[in-house]
Amino acid sequence: MYCLLCHNPIDQIISWEHLFLSSPVHPEICKICSSKLEEIYGEQCRICSRPFSKLPTEFQNKDICHDCYRWEQDVEWTGTLTRNISIFDYNDFLKELLAQFKFRGDHEIVKAFTTHVQSKFKQMFHQKSLPFIVPIPLSPERLYERGFNQANSLAQLLNVPIDNILTRIHTEKQSKKTRQERIHKQSPFHLIQLNDPQKYHNKPILLIDDIYTTGTTLRQAAKALTPLSPKAIYSLTLARS
Ligand SMILES: [Zn+2]
Ligand SMILES: [Zn+2]
Repeated sequence: MYCLLCHNPIDQIISWEHLFLSSPVHPEICKICSSKLEEIYGEQCRICSRPFSKLPTEFQNKDICHDCYRWEQDVEWTGTLTRNISIFDYNDFLKELLAQFKFRGDHEIVKAFTTHVQSKFKQMFHQKSLPFIVPIPLSPERLYERGFNQANSLAQLLNVPIDNILTRIHTEKQSKKTRQERIHKQSPFHLIQLNDPQKYHNKPILLIDDIYTTGTTLRQAAKALTPLSPKAIYSLTLARS
């Protein structure tokens, strides 16, 4: 078996450490690659999972970060996104991996995250109240350019049905805009015509995307889903930048 990231052979021996400390075994990637990924842990923002260890205290408001505080203060956005869970810190190693995955089309890379994505999902949701899975869509133009939607590839790792119920129109890159411009411009997301919209009523929805940066994309997508009156809208993202 070879590491999906560096292609070196993986030591298959399961150590005592794994058996007794129940630390997860990640057979998709080698120990060296695994050690370069920084899992988010410890105290973090209750809404966006930003680690507080890297955030100066003046940007914290009790259990939420300053950004989330501003979102929640804005009546138009209060409670739109119940909670985002990010798995890794967006460090240089992950940045490079995601660039390889998204822009250079190395689609196999996504499989390296299978164990992490699945176990985070199990931690977040109980078997009895599984959410509807909605990957953040790409615009048709971007999808054509890239050949696949990275959010959809991540969602497929869960091996559960996927509800592609959002569409996205082509817009400029959000990161080039100021916060005010981002918030006040029209959302690029639209809900598709559904035959059975009532099935989402009072049920949880889980948005999937690769990165949580400003939180604008996920909140706009969440807002497009609110006519379905879901119980809550969560998001699972691979990285928190
Ligand atoms: Zn490796
Ligand atoms: Zn936050």
